[in-house]
Amino acid sequence: MLSIIARHGIARFARLNRFYSSAIAPILNPEIFCRQIFVNNEWHNAILGKTFPTVNPATGEVITHVEEGDAPDVDKAVKAATKAFEYGSPWRTMDASDRGRLLNKLADLIERDRIYLASLETLDGGKPFSDSFNIDLHMTLKTYRYYAGYCDKISGKTLNIDGDYFSYTRHEPVGVCGQIIPWNVPLLMQAWKLAPALAPGNTVVLKPAEQTSLTALYIGKLIKEAGFPPGVVNIVPGYGHTAGYAVAAHKGVNKVAFTGSTEVGQIVMETAAKSNLKRVTLELGGKSPNIVFNDADLDLAVQSAHQGVFFNQGQVCCAGTRIFVEEGIYDKFVEKSVELASKRKVGNPFDLNTQQGPQISETQMDKILSLIGSGKEEGAKMLCGGGRLGDKGYFVSPTVFADVQDNMKIATEEIFGPVMQILKFKTIEELVERANNTMYGLAAGIFSQDIDKITYFSSALQAGTVWVNCYNVFDAQAPFGGFKMSGVGREMGDYGLQAYTEIKTVTMKVPQKNS
Ligand code: NAD
Ligand code: MG
Repeated sequence: MLSIIARHGIARFARLNRFYSSAIAPILNPEIFCRQIFVNNEWHNAILGKTFPTVNPATGEVITHVEEGDAPDVDKAVKAATKAFEYGSPWRTMDASDRGRLLNKLADLIERDRIYLASLETLDGGKPFSDSFNIDLHMTLKTYRYYAGYCDKISGKTLNIDGDYFSYTRHEPVGVCGQIIPWNVPLLMQAWKLAPALAPGNTVVLKPAEQTSLTALYIGKLIKEAGFPPGVVNIVPGYGHTAGYAVAAHKGVNKVAFTGSTEVGQIVMETAAKSNLKRVTLELGGKSPNIVFNDADLDLAVQSAHQGVFFNQGQVCCAGTRIFVEEGIYDKFVEKSVELASKRKVGNPFDLNTQQGPQISETQMDKILSLIGSGKEEGAKMLCGGGRLGDKGYFVSPTVFADVQDNMKIATEEIFGPVMQILKFKTIEELVERANNTMYGLAAGIFSQDIDKITYFSSALQAGTVWVNCYNVFDAQAPFGGFKMSGVGREMGDYGLQAYTEIKTVTMKVPQKNS
């Protein structure tokens, strides 16, 4: 889908989806309805009596204060989720097809409130409203509806085994699922977590990122309105080292799913292992290679590589930030990429013409600026951008580095900002090793018209997703996740359900004669 945007721009994409971004007006000051902890379909204040601010990154101003969940609130939420999961509870005895109806109802309510949710997402997280509305909400709806259709299709197998027996398998829900999500795509990451967990009948304790709690909490309101039984979904806003850690450490949690930095992913896995060996899926960082061969459709490659880096302010785990360009088209590619990046419209995310909003926080902005500084120091050629824009909010100008060398910091560390690295290659032989020379393995791109190069590289690259002549194409049907230190497990598609079910084998003796 994002390839459509790369080729035709957001307006064409919006038309394809029967939405005209210019006809949709954002709500500039969306009312904040939910700022408390959501447990048992009720709203609660934090047990320790604390709140924390959430900030509008376009201005740096505090939007509101949110109740700050901590270990006791997580414990309360886990107890509610455990009770909702008890054998014989309304959720456990509900027909699978009715679970599907509930997920579809939730999607319908999200669609009803789409403008409000897109506006709130933009206010709290800074992404351009046209992206929030056309991409985040669009994909969020597709995710809930995709898994709604799965609820009554999750079945085991009948197996022939030796002897006077037969076996069948049941794909049962794992139990209470702890889910910790990031701030870069808050609503969609919530959907990626909730929908496949709820489809087989799990219950959930979800901790949103502290920077972006508001849309996550509003989904709690809609969950109640849709008619989910109390305790099936519980949402505890709070910080990572307190509330997030408590989710990963809680012995009553049977499975934890985390999206965020590799560093915290390692803590979550260790914590999960030490507490109760809860099942773990992780979706972590990346430094994805995007390879452009001499024979590529140059304009398509330039457009796609641009979207592959700059989309969502560069705050994308699979951003294609190491762009390897073959010698013959290198200069042209660099020139066109700089031209495109220089034209990118950065500014007020509520303006429908804006392509790039602020970074999520001052911390992230400073990290990006410091990595840009290291690129200059290490001798990469900075051809545009390179600094903060304005003195209010956390805007960074779109930056392009050429002549980047493999060992430079900007070529090895995840920047998570609007910074493109272009590297030159001469021979195909050198390329596989250079592209794979990273601890990460989330995604990769290939631009070529040569089927042999395409099939060879799509096999040789160590990445969970390989995009060919496109980049950043996601859909609910296709699994996503990382090789190496980019993660454990897969989300989305039917593969995404595997992490949310336990397989039980039932073996029965079959009498051989009627006695
Ligand atoms: P982070 O990994 O700290 O935060 C992600 C989530 O984990 C948040 O909900 C946070 O509260 C929680 N968390 C933090 N510490 C925790 C702990 N000890 N136990 C359990 N949960 C914990 O990410 P960040 O600090 O917001 O960003 C730092 C870097 O992480 C970014 O620059 C970027 O490189 C990367 N990142 C990646 C993704 C992604 O989609 N893979 C998303 C956000 C950030
Ligand atoms: Mg915020």
